Amino acid sequence: MSQPIRPGSALGLLGGGQLGRMFTLAARNLGYRVHALDPGHDCPAGQVADLEIRAAYNDVYAAQALARGVDVVTVEFENIPAETLEAVAEVRPMHPGAFVLHTVQHRLREKRFLAEHGFPVTPFRQIDTEQDLHEATAALGLPAVLKTASFGYDGKGQQKLTALEQVPAAFAALGGQQGILEAWVPFELECSVVCARSSAGETAVWDVAENAHRNHILDTTVFPARIPAEVAKRAQAMAIAIAESLGVVGMLTVEFFLKAGGELLVNELAPRPHNSGHATIDACTTSQFEQQVRAVCGLPLGDTTLLRPAAMANLLGDLWPRGGEPAWERLLDHRDVKLHLYGKTEARPGRKMGHLTALGGTPEEALAKVLAAREALKG
Ligand code: AMP
Repeated sequence: MSQPIRPGSALGLLGGGQLGRMFTLAARNLGYRVHALDPGHDCPAGQVADLEIRAAYNDVYAAQALARGVDVVTVEFENIPAETLEAVAEVRPMHPGAFVLHTVQHRLREKRFLAEHGFPVTPFRQIDTEQDLHEATAALGLPAVLKTASFGYDGKGQQKLTALEQVPAAFAALGGQQGILEAWVPFELECSVVCARSSAGETAVWDVAENAHRNHILDTTVFPARIPAEVAKRAQAMAIAIAESLGVVGMLTVEFFLKAGGELLVNELAPRPHNSGHATIDACTTSQFEQQVRAVCGLPLGDTTLLRPAAMANLLGDLWPRGGEPAWERLLDHRDVKLHLYGKTEARPGRKMGHLTALGGTPEEALAKVLAAREALKG
């Protein structure tokens, strides 16, 4: 095993959004330097990093220059082009590795990997032609969800099909991209598990997070999920088994659908910290971001104990009045609610600007607190 990358070393980060910002803050707390590459200027991670490199993700020379200046490279975003990942890996260790990123960059590859390794997923079909879509709807039944195979997140590029007449328009909306049709899952709730795996093969997992979405975007997370202990154990064990099968070094988030009766289906993988794990910053001994640092540096993984039940609410750009700011003074009256802002100057509807976390005696109490605080922000 290679030597651990010790505090004081420099870490490279591909992607400079909020996940990168919180990674950078955690890394700096541990005494590391961080160099972040992002196509934008003044990006959330760049604002708190030692060095911000402004370059497109397909700029392999810029990515190699980043890599030369650091000891290890990690990502906060999985859709980095394969050539860039290969170029970086020629220069420095990169965690997670190119195979992991390649697998999760494409919904068909991801679902096939899971199915081939015995992990439960909803039935799906590859869609290249309108005929494929006709056949797939006949095989899977309706409703079903049509998604673009690549570059989808937060419900982007998704269409729910409820009637056969929708097939031609839905196929046309793929715009020539490959698609995947998934059987609709009548789930009871959505939950996720964040886990970590180090280069030594050590694993660590947090409690299950219970997620509520609005317009396909995560709205709130309750931590721990209000599900039977047996189901939670199964979800945690499955997340670790997936991380081991994929050979992840770093973080892996597994999103699940939980059906009535306790059946779990894997919806999606993200080889990085996740929005549903943000409460780990305020509620756990080790946050998901500190864990990413530990895992990619080959340090022992931190303790994941949840110290108190918690809830997280996202702050989307919709909360920002046109040309103004939310009512921060009213929020700050909620003295036991933690505000995390990502440093984004332009608020757009649906854009993740920040989040709130509250702790409580019970998950319900934490959720009530965080929702009341977010409501107060509306002024
Ligand atoms: P995704 O981008 O695949 O995570 O999908 C975003 C959200 O759409 C999920 O969190 C679910 O709420 C919903 N969704 C996606 N796929 C399905 C499905 N096959 N059945 C039911 N709901 C789905």
